[in-house]
Order: sequence, then C-alpha cells, then structure tokens
Amino acid sequence: MRSFHCTCGNQTFFDNSQCVACGNELGFCPSCRELVALLPTATGGFQCGNSECNAELQKCFNYVEHNICNRCVSASTALEQNLCDCCRFSETIPDLTVEGNLKKWARLESAKRRLFYDLDQLGLPYGKASDGIDPPLRFDFKADVIRPNDFWRSFGKSENVYTGHDTGQITINIREADDVEREKLRVDLGEAQRTLIGHFRHEIGHFYWDLLVKGRCEPEFIAVFGDHNQPTYADALDAYYKNGPAPEWRESYISAYATMHPWEDFAETWASYLDMISTLDTTSHNGLDNPMNPIESDLVAMVTEYQRLGIIFNEVSRSFGLLDVVPEIFVSPVVDKLEFIHQLVLQGREMNGALQPALNTLATVGT
Ligand SMILES: [Zn+2]
Ligand SMILES: [Zn+2]
Ligand SMILES: [Zn+2]
Ligand SMILES: [Zn+2]
Repeated sequence: MRSFHCTCGNQTFFDNSQCVACGNELGFCPSCRELVALLPTATGGFQCGNSECNAELQKCFNYVEHNICNRCVSASTALEQNLCDCCRFSETIPDLTVEGNLKKWARLESAKRRLFYDLDQLGLPYGKASDGIDPPLRFDFKADVIRPNDFWRSFGKSENVYTGHDTGQITINIREADDVEREKLRVDLGEAQRTLIGHFRHEIGHFYWDLLVKGRCEPEFIAVFGDHNQPTYADALDAYYKNGPAPEWRESYISAYATMHPWEDFAETWASYLDMISTLDTTSHNGLDNPMNPIESDLVAMVTEYQRLGIIFNEVSRSFGLLDVVPEIFVSPVVDKLEFIHQLVLQGREMNGALQPALNTLATVGT
C-alpha cells in the first residue's frame, strides 16, 4: 500500500477520511485513483484536490450516511450510482439496529477496500452481472441468527452463517470483525494468523478459480494442485474434520487447511500470493527494499525477497510480543503452486485488457 498527500503537503493514508494537519476532508477519487483532499464546490459537491485531476465528485452514500467508507463517485454518475466502486458489491450488510454492528461493518468494508486495491494493482478482472462478469462478484456480511428453542412464539430456525464462497457470492460471518471472537477462533483452530483481510484474500481465491480456472485450464490445475473431482469436496471436508491434516503437511502445503481439498489449497495459496504482492507493494512504496513490480517481476525473485523481508518483520513483531507477520514456509511444491497462480494472474490481466498497470500505483522497476 502506498501513502498519499493532502493539498497541505501532509502525508495521508489509505483509510483516512480527514487530514490531521489541516482538517480537510479526504476521499478516494475514482478518476485519478488517489486519496485526495475534497474541496467543497458551490453546488454542494466536491472537487478532487489533485490539481492534475480536478474531477467533480460526490461522496459515496456509505460515506455520507454511515461514515464507513472514504471513497467518492463521479458527480456525473452519482444520480444513478451513489455507491462507490467498492461498496456497490456489498449485497447484504449487517443489521445496523444491533449495537456494535456499524463498527463491524466498517472494519469489513475497510478490509474489502484493501482487497480491491490488490486486485486493481494486479489488473485482475471482476465485476457484477451488469459488467458482463460471470460469475458476478458480490458480498454478504451476515450474523448468525440465534433463536431460543424453548420460545414457543419463535418462528423460523437458528441459522449459522458460514464464511465462504459460492459462484461469486462471498459470505463473511460478521463475528470475524470482532477481535475477541476472531482471536478465540484462531486459537481454537490452531491457526498462525486469522485476519479480516486474510478472509477476503482467501475467498476471492475461490472466485478466481471459478473465473480463471474452471473450464479453462483444469488439467493444468490438477497437475499442480491435485484432482478436485476426486475425492468430492464434501468427502474431503468430512475426512479433514475427522482426521485433521497429515503430520507432514509442511512438506507440500502452505497451511494445514490447504490439505483439505485442492480448492482450499488453491484459495490458501492465492491468499498468500496476495499477502506477498501487498507486502512487496508496501515496502516498495516506503523505501524498504528494491522496488518490485509484480507484473514484470519473476515469481521466484518475489518469493525470495518476501522471505527475506518476512524474517525481518517476524523478528520485529516478536520483539513486540506479537504474532509472526509471515508465518508461511515456502517449500518448493508451494513455490510451484504460487508460480501457477502468478501465470494465472497474468492471463487474467490480459483477459481484463489491462496491458498497462491498472493504477498508477505500481512501483517502477529500477528506480
Ligand atoms: Zn491537509
Ligand atoms: Zn482525482
Ligand atoms: Zn463506498
Ligand atoms: Zn475456502
């Protein structure tokens, strides 16, 4: 992630909605793809504070109404589409009459915006049905429905919401946005890490399997990840929760959960690929290492650099008594899987017609 600058010169960050130095309101401009100062206009709208852009903007409806978004929409399209290019994908939002849900929703949307930044940076295709994308991408942020069994007037059943993906529909149980609940799950499940952005990066991996692998390159996928038809997903799920992962899983998988089924292996590896791209992007933009453009860089070179940085970040994190930032070990079979994903990303990018970096956000190699 890169940082930005307010018109006053102050450095600003992706999640900011106000400049702490001059008090200007900030918003992400869909035209110049920058976090900019929002300069009020006489008509009640805003002008992009980037002097090379000056686009006429309106705040996203969720920015105005709920203050859970910091993006803008173009003033010319605001009448028919008042949600920004991220919020428009949320089909189900939490029940805002429940205390605490607004905060959880804000965290979910914040993680989702970072996900879209990753996807845009790589130039990957995604969209709704109206954008001609099949499967259409959409998000449901839902809570478990708990109804007491002994309450004679209660209608309907209790419903457990499972975080997962189904043909473009990504469902996230909103308790994942509660730090206490999520950490409890992490410990119960013996995971090295459990984060909101991690959920989004994993589930979007399933989406890209449907979009870029299914019916396109399944034999090539099977050669690297194994046969997704044999055993079936349901059988694999049963076996995993009955027997757990094989003790030697670290020799060929990125995580224990990846051993469950080739689809989960793909999603887990995809999530790690996005972690790596995001980390290299952040370090490139903050002067920590040699800039690496993921579109032009060799996968093995990126993995080597990511591992080198991972050791440093883990040691820093341990010195604060925090969890490891990069817990994964990149053994050779995992690197082969990452290479498959890297090539898939390049193909997806071509399919998207993105022959140039999608945003002005890619670090330039060699500078
Ligand atoms: Zn400022
Ligand atoms: Zn702009
Ligand atoms: Zn929005
Ligand atoms: Zn999954």
